[in-house]
Amino acid sequence: MALEGTSGQNPTVHPLASKTNATPSEGLESPVAVISGVGPDRRQLLERLGIHSVRDLLWHAPRRHEDRRRFSPIRDLALADTVTVRGKVVAAGVNRFRSGKSVFQLIVDDGTGRLHCRWWNLPFLERVFAVGDDLLVFGKVNSVRPRTMDHPETEKVLSGEEEQVHLNRLVPVYPLTEGLTQRVLRGLTWRALERFADLLTEPHPALKVTDHHVRPAVESGGSQLTLEARPLPALAEAIRRVHFPNEPWEADLARQRLALDEFVELQIVIQRRRRRLEAKARALPCSGDNRWMRPFLARLGFDLTSAQQRVLREIRSNLGGQVPMRRLLQGDVGSGKTLVAAGAALMTLESGFSVAVMAPTEILAEQLYRNFRRWFLPLGLSVELRTGQHQTDSRMELPLDGSNPQKDGPTVTVGTHALIQSGFVPQQLGLVIIDEQHKFGVAQREELLRKGHFPHLLVMTATPIPRTLGLTLYGDLDVSVLDELPGGRKRIRTHVRTPDALPKVWAFLRRELEAGRQGYVVYPRVEESESDDVKAVTSEYRRLQPELAPFRVGLLHGQLPPEAKESVMNEFRSGFLQVLVATTVVEVGVDVPNATVMVIEEAGQFGLAQLHQLRGRIGRGAQESHCILIAGERTPEAEARLKILEKTTDGFEIAEADLQLRGPGELVGRQQSGVPDFRFGDLRRDRGLVELARETVRKGWEAATSTTTGIDGRLK
Ligand code: ADP
Ligand code: MG
Repeated sequence: MALEGTSGQNPTVHPLASKTNATPSEGLESPVAVISGVGPDRRQLLERLGIHSVRDLLWHAPRRHEDRRRFSPIRDLALADTVTVRGKVVAAGVNRFRSGKSVFQLIVDDGTGRLHCRWWNLPFLERVFAVGDDLLVFGKVNSVRPRTMDHPETEKVLSGEEEQVHLNRLVPVYPLTEGLTQRVLRGLTWRALERFADLLTEPHPALKVTDHHVRPAVESGGSQLTLEARPLPALAEAIRRVHFPNEPWEADLARQRLALDEFVELQIVIQRRRRRLEAKARALPCSGDNRWMRPFLARLGFDLTSAQQRVLREIRSNLGGQVPMRRLLQGDVGSGKTLVAAGAALMTLESGFSVAVMAPTEILAEQLYRNFRRWFLPLGLSVELRTGQHQTDSRMELPLDGSNPQKDGPTVTVGTHALIQSGFVPQQLGLVIIDEQHKFGVAQREELLRKGHFPHLLVMTATPIPRTLGLTLYGDLDVSVLDELPGGRKRIRTHVRTPDALPKVWAFLRRELEAGRQGYVVYPRVEESESDDVKAVTSEYRRLQPELAPFRVGLLHGQLPPEAKESVMNEFRSGFLQVLVATTVVEVGVDVPNATVMVIEEAGQFGLAQLHQLRGRIGRGAQESHCILIAGERTPEAEARLKILEKTTDGFEIAEADLQLRGPGELVGRQQSGVPDFRFGDLRRDRGLVELARETVRKGWEAATSTTTGIDGRLK
């Protein structure tokens, strides 16, 4: 052990600074096995981490850095300190209990004191550690008499040639897989840098990203400090420092540079898609002549909100423009998006083109179908339904005015993803409308568009998307916002309560039911699970029926057969059922204006945006509505989170809070969310970088328009 040998290292001169050891045939795309120390076994382990090439290894982001320039003396450790210590193992052994459980324990001594380390049910650790080992231990002190850490991270100090990699500096700590150690991965990364650093040239030199300054952030005593702005490092420097920084701020500056690269790549894809569309596609003329729009509006029985009028004007101008419409309509639940969709559909139909409307669930598709039929049949237009279950054709039904619907004219087809399947062959598809866009992926959207020849596209979402996320997910779309609720709508009052208030809550619900209203009771799960006691809808349904008798209670969840779902929805809509006990299947689209109460049990299990969506199912009629969120075992954070809903009904504010609290994947739904998997980018923190990427790419593209290649060197 020659610690002294490395302590004199000058941290400002990186030993890799000027080495070129890569042979010409090797590059960043070479298999990771070209690095010494990677045999077949390690290669397999690395593959489990998604590391196949040298590039993958260099772009494998550390999850934190550990400061090994100085260690905390064990003597000084206090409760809840999170620290790294270094000492010798002076005792180690396993205790096995009769229950079959076991605890492996070792004691580390650094000359100032002793630290106990414990691991439960990992008896094999006995073979990993030995008395005399020189050990680094990172963890949180969870008791002080004696000083103890449970399940800390450890690393053995080995004598070897790479000490300057592992000691006396800030060292990277990576996400690992079983069988691979920090030390091994760190050594491989170091050697990869040594050989390949010179190949790390700017991906898009024309974009000059190093001209930009950003403010690095560092962790300090549990909070984030933002430092003064510095220029973004060049790629080679960024990759080096993201692994082996000299100071903590260097690691964050490097991370931001690499995050910007990720956002830039995405913006290039998004903006290229848009530019190709502008260059290639001739828009179908779909702005209509008002011949059906006028009677449609006259029959509605209410006036459009000014937001609805504005958005319809935006849409009409797109439908009559040169480039096919690519528009996102954002509007809070209840803001009247369906009506805007109907207006856009009418313009298209008037122009002689067909319309396809896709919704994420059968319930929602059927509801849209019903609305469109109610509005369009009297105009003599044909509306069809196409889901996994249904293929109806409303042409056979007579319109209210007794005239015959046209047999071969343009059609509105409403459906689920069944629309994507090959059986659906629309004639002259002019407009594609996608409701609750975030439930679909971009691929599905494109598939439906391919059913026509560059049809117009209107996607709608009630999940307000914070701008950062919007630019990432929908950067190629124009955005319209319905920022006004139809008048006559009463406020929804939201109350956060603990489970001991439930008897009062049911009493309140009964009073509303007695007054002729309806209500929802929502649970996070369909079935109870053995691993926790989160309430589930099926068992609570059985409990609530007698509780609320004689009122009639229905059960709705996603695992019911479609016919059962449909009949329960119909019974609730008609008022036969007064209460709907449901999972989040009621989250989107369900529209029963007489429902004035929504009780959400286990509210802590839901995201804020999702709770906001659920809440939007009430407050749709003239009566005041109440949303009651029930949450037990509340931490101050959990309580603060739910209180946001008591304070505001502004969906954008809620979405921003949700993005901060739970991250983008949760916000838009885990599956098919379309949120790219960034290695360095973090949409919660990097809003400025997302905007910067968008601007940088836009300007780069403008500067490149005079040449024949795009900003990434590819042919345009
Ligand atoms: P969203 O899909 O945006 O959540 P909907 O389109 O389902 O909202 O509209 C919610 C309810 O408001 C529906 O019952 C609809 O008929 C009604 N509505 C829509 N626009 C208006 C308006 N301008 N005035 C009055 N009611 C409206
Ligand atoms: Mg809707």
